[in-house]
Amino acid sequence: MNQPAHIVIIGAGIVGAASAFHCLQAGLRVTLVEPGVPGDEQASSYGNAGWLSSHSVLPPAYPGVWKKVPAWLIDPLGPLSIRLHYLPKALPWLVRYLAAASTYVRIERTARALRTLLADAPALHQVMADAAGVGYLIERKGLLHAFLSRGHFEQDAKAWEIRRREGIEWEELDAAALHAREPDLSPHYTFGVYTPEAGSCRNPGAYTAALIEYARSKGATLVRTTATGFRIEQGRLRAVLTTEGEIACDRAVIAAGARARALALQAGDAVPLETERGYHAVVSPVTVGPRTSTMFADQKVVVNSMEQGLRIAGQVEITEADDTPNWRRAEILREHLQTLYPGLPRDLAPEHIKIWMGRRPSTPDALPCIGVASATADIIHAYGHGHIGLVGSARTGRLVAQLASGATPEIPLKPFSPQRFR
Ligand SMILES: Cc1cc2nc3c(=O)[nH]c(=O)nc-3n(C[C@H](O)[C@H](O)[C@H](O)COP(=O)(O)OP(=O)(O)OC[C@H]3O[C@@H](n4cnc5c(N)ncnc54)[C@H](O)[C@@H]3O)c2cc1C
Repeated sequence: MNQPAHIVIIGAGIVGAASAFHCLQAGLRVTLVEPGVPGDEQASSYGNAGWLSSHSVLPPAYPGVWKKVPAWLIDPLGPLSIRLHYLPKALPWLVRYLAAASTYVRIERTARALRTLLADAPALHQVMADAAGVGYLIERKGLLHAFLSRGHFEQDAKAWEIRRREGIEWEELDAAALHAREPDLSPHYTFGVYTPEAGSCRNPGAYTAALIEYARSKGATLVRTTATGFRIEQGRLRAVLTTEGEIACDRAVIAAGARARALALQAGDAVPLETERGYHAVVSPVTVGPRTSTMFADQKVVVNSMEQGLRIAGQVEITEADDTPNWRRAEILREHLQTLYPGLPRDLAPEHIKIWMGRRPSTPDALPCIGVASATADIIHAYGHGHIGLVGSARTGRLVAQLASGATPEIPLKPFSPQRFR
């Protein structure tokens, strides 16, 4: 009898975890390589906002956003900032980032591709979470966008129109309807958009950890080390190299999030992957907050009631992945939380506030890299999900398993090709 193919998955964030889940289901032998504790603070998957937003099909940039670049450089505490010393390195990425969203035709193309990846995401996550015994972490009761006024929503009308063309439905809430749903919300917000198809996760770190534990219970091995490269002979992968030695294998998946770039290069693909750092603040115990997890369009933050407390997450800071965090950013998030939910206690003791900084793995065109490597089809790229890595991980895991086992991918992978930047 043939031995099942052995696949090494590099990185045990949510993309690695979902890949392990589906590779095991496809009958592959799975080894996970991860230096940290799976789902812990080193992973972006630990501290995100928990949005399973199948409607998040638009890139973060939009036409004309280049006019804001000077402000991004001047204001280190704005919702988006670029650290000045890093600008020369970030510039090529930034130019591509602005160009990719410079027209609505381009944005619509991105939306069409992302919709194929994200459609049904809450249901796909529910299946995985149920299997891993943490189905209760997935909530499927929609998501809310809060606007200061209907006028502010209408400024975004073209973006919402693109969503409508992708089959995304929503309900508009006037001030009375919004505050009936969200009694703790600041009265400054007078218009809401509710997207019923979306969902959220009450503890993304615990969810990731549970998927890894489930994979281990089904036979996967977790090796606590760092992958450094590949041994490829005659076009076939022979082993993944690690700081502790080689792991012989037939396939490998690069799921190392914001650290994937060097591995991708070793697999023959120069990918312009940047780190969009973000922050969160969690306050506990939760006394007030949203009934439905809410994004605030003006502040570009999400507030979600989670197992650990009330989490506010957001901010984009483009700099070296390992630059010192600017914790003032997390404090600003905490201050926003107070403004958004005025009923929160004003003077919370430090032990009731927890802050975190994470690294979104971001491509300039807001599309992840999913596909086989140039050096050998035995290596699969699965990273670069930027702002949508949690929601997008479920189908990514399925695609990884399909590529690894020679099945036809369930969606067209051309828009996600790791070779598209050549
Ligand atoms: C503030 C914030 C809010 C966000 N909110 C949302 C949201 O609401 N919804 C959403 O969908 N997305 C959100 N995101 C984005 C999402 O968190 C990421 O896209 C996603 O977590 C990326 O998952 P990943 O598995 O690719 O990377 P990670 O979670 O970063 O995991 C990568 C893992 O690879 C390991 N690794 C790295 N290098 C190596 C190596 N050489 N060898 C072995 N292992 C290695 C790392 O230790 C890490 O554990 C948010 C991000 C931030 C920062």
